[in-house]
Amino acid sequence: MTDTVIKPDFDAAQKHFIFTQEHEDLRESMEAWAKKELHPHRNEWEETKWPDSAIERAGELGYLGLCFPEEYGGQGGDYFYSLVRAEALSYAANGGLGMGFAVQTDMVLPPVHLLGTEEQKQKYLVPGIAGTKIGALGITEPGAGSDVAGIRTTAILDGDEYVINGAKTFITNAARAQFMVLVVKTDPSKAHDGITLLLIDIRDEDGNDLPGFSVTSNLEKMGMLSSDTGELAFEDFRVPAESVLGEVGKGFYHISWELQGERLVAAAGSHAGAERLLETTIEYALDRQAFGRPIGKFRRSVTRSPRWPPRSKPRSSSPTRSPGASTGASTRCGRSRWPR
Ligand SMILES: Cc1cc2nc3c(=O)[nH]c(=O)nc-3n(C[C@H](O)[C@H](O)[C@H](O)COP(=O)(O)OP(=O)(O)OC[C@H]3O[C@@H](n4cnc5c(N)ncnc54)[C@H](O)[C@@H]3O)c2cc1C
Repeated sequence: MTDTVIKPDFDAAQKHFIFTQEHEDLRESMEAWAKKELHPHRNEWEETKWPDSAIERAGELGYLGLCFPEEYGGQGGDYFYSLVRAEALSYAANGGLGMGFAVQTDMVLPPVHLLGTEEQKQKYLVPGIAGTKIGALGITEPGAGSDVAGIRTTAILDGDEYVINGAKTFITNAARAQFMVLVVKTDPSKAHDGITLLLIDIRDEDGNDLPGFSVTSNLEKMGMLSSDTGELAFEDFRVPAESVLGEVGKGFYHISWELQGERLVAAAGSHAGAERLLETTIEYALDRQAFGRPIGKFRRSVTRSPRWPPRSKPRSSSPTRSPGASTGASTRCGRSRWPR
């Protein structure tokens, strides 16, 4: 029995059995990009918010479509590439940027890919992967967070249009997004079964709010300052009936299933961020002198950790490589599959 238990081998080149050499090559190239092009701006962006050009650049390098099919501009890789992306972005040392990117790659685009019509995919998935259109996800409301079935934003069919009324809060990318996956009640008399997803434009080509949509407040936060977080209002906001994403009345089940993978991506990014902090702390502790020696030397365990120092890894030469789906895992972003 004990022979079948998989134990970590800290000296192994392959850090985890879900990651192949292709995953590791991507990690190297993304890490190099994050250090070179993102990390230098980490403090400035806490003041100004990360610029749209950062996500456009990520799209150009092929980093936004890692696990979407090549026919939509993606790289055709598996779900684990999303974990690599989240971990590699930790080298930008800017949590708000990682969060804003993850909303695009792991929360907005997966349901568009999994549930969208061909027309919706061409309109939102293709430019979303290219980084030329930014999306937001609107679930949370002033009166409904964890209890999604309690949302009050309604979309009532009027001829061939839905008329949306309500408010959303804590919405990442709200100030910059051109489109949104919006969670609404199409049947307010029902709880879970009254919920529908809509895929809608919220701004015109010039970035102006469409009539009936507004950002009522850009919320102040304690951290993640480079990411914008907004409170939104919809007042008789009209969208075509074809804006439904998936099935009418199935929205609760769609977000429970199609967004399954994003929490693990968030956890991987958070864990990687903590690793970067540990590295910085150890570096400081070994450099800072007090009482005639580095302060880290007062705690012998700092240098005795079996995982420290980390092994240096080989560099990849190509930042835009196509990863492929070599693990046998699902090619679907947003749904994790254990490789067989
Ligand atoms: C920086 C940031 C960005 C965000 N971006 C987005 C976004 O882009 N789109 C979006 O839709 N939302 C977004 N959110 C909202 C986020 O998803 C919600 O905060 C989350 O769903 C929790 O809802 P809430 O804040 O209303 O907490 P509440 O639902 O009020 O919960 C408060 C506390 O009570 C606990 N709790 C609730 N119910 C139970 C229960 N039944 N049993 C035990 N404990 C319970 C919760 O775990 C939590 O600790 C964002 C939030 C933040 C902070």
